[in-house]
Amino acid sequence: MIVAKFGGSSVKDAEAMRACVNVVKSTPELGVVIISATYNSTNELERIYLSLSNGDKNAAKSQWQEIEKRHHEMAKELGEFCIAPIQALMDSFNFKLKELFTLKSFDAHHRDLILSFGENMSSLLFQLTLKEEFKGEREVYLVPATSFLKTNSNFGLAAPKPESIKLYCEGLFREGLNNGHLFVTQGFIGSDGQDQVTTLGREGSDYSATLVASALNASEVHIWTDVDGVYSADPNIIKDAKKLEELTYDEATAFASAGAKVLFSKTLAPLISADIPLKVGKTNDPAAAGTWIRSSVSMPKDLIGVTAKERSDGLILTLVGNGVYDLDIEHSEIDRGDIYRSFYHQGGDCEDILKLWYERYFS
Ligand code: ASP
Ligand code: MG
Repeated sequence: MIVAKFGGSSVKDAEAMRACVNVVKSTPELGVVIISATYNSTNELERIYLSLSNGDKNAAKSQWQEIEKRHHEMAKELGEFCIAPIQALMDSFNFKLKELFTLKSFDAHHRDLILSFGENMSSLLFQLTLKEEFKGEREVYLVPATSFLKTNSNFGLAAPKPESIKLYCEGLFREGLNNGHLFVTQGFIGSDGQDQVTTLGREGSDYSATLVASALNASEVHIWTDVDGVYSADPNIIKDAKKLEELTYDEATAFASAGAKVLFSKTLAPLISADIPLKVGKTNDPAAAGTWIRSSVSMPKDLIGVTAKERSDGLILTLVGNGVYDLDIEHSEIDRGDIYRSFYHQGGDCEDILKLWYERYFS
């Protein structure tokens, strides 16, 4: 059984969502599909929370109307069958927002509640479209992540509780999976012991996918996104960055923690003990090889990649790979681990310096 996750750019509009539906249809072993909020929605929902906490209800209202409008249009384009259900969901959010508008003060659990609207809307649209596409060939159910992704109450960056997640996942999914049913759920969100909505941290939907995969002992996880794999450096900046065909869990974790945007840094931890492989692939080119991440690789590399991050007083460059200790680097080292070293670089343009370092160590 495979668990797949589609990121925000992969579900950004009706056309993009249809490409995801095609990927699902061509992967019969798929059992659980995790959906992110549509592109940029979580940022917009963050702004609504900010407007509310600044007491600017009017701004919050018009920001919400924008999101509503976009999802409404998307529903229309996906098909008549989406309109009434998405309207009912948005009505329930309108009701919740009205309640929030009466409050005097806000805190992190209100933020998580508002942010959760994004994944709730996108996953509903996705499930309805899949159901329509499968025409009863396969049953397609929507399961709220709050019903199984149990976490602590650290709102905004909640820690999952793997044992509870396993228990709930077994109860909710196992029988249906055995009967060939397909389940759609939300990434990023969960719930605490009081059943309040929590979130796993921004960009955390990848983590939801691996938590579910581990709970159900899946055979693979597929992370579908807008790039066809993990690259040795940000491919938007380094045009000749190389696609990495395979990475170990440790390499991918070090790379993600150093700021490689393609994966959320905690993503791989749940997969390690059961050795569940994860593939990063491009939704619009599903046949491309992608990047496989697993416990060991057939062709180990000394250096796998470099990242650059801005800091108030300069830049942090991180090199990742087993060979990082063989390199002689003049800059002052500010952090190190088994397979990474981070250096401080005073000033300079982030992209230019990344290009220079890439040239120096990877060409
Ligand atoms: N929608 C959430 C975010 O933008 C989670 C995710 O997409 O990974 O942070
Ligand atoms: Mg992501």
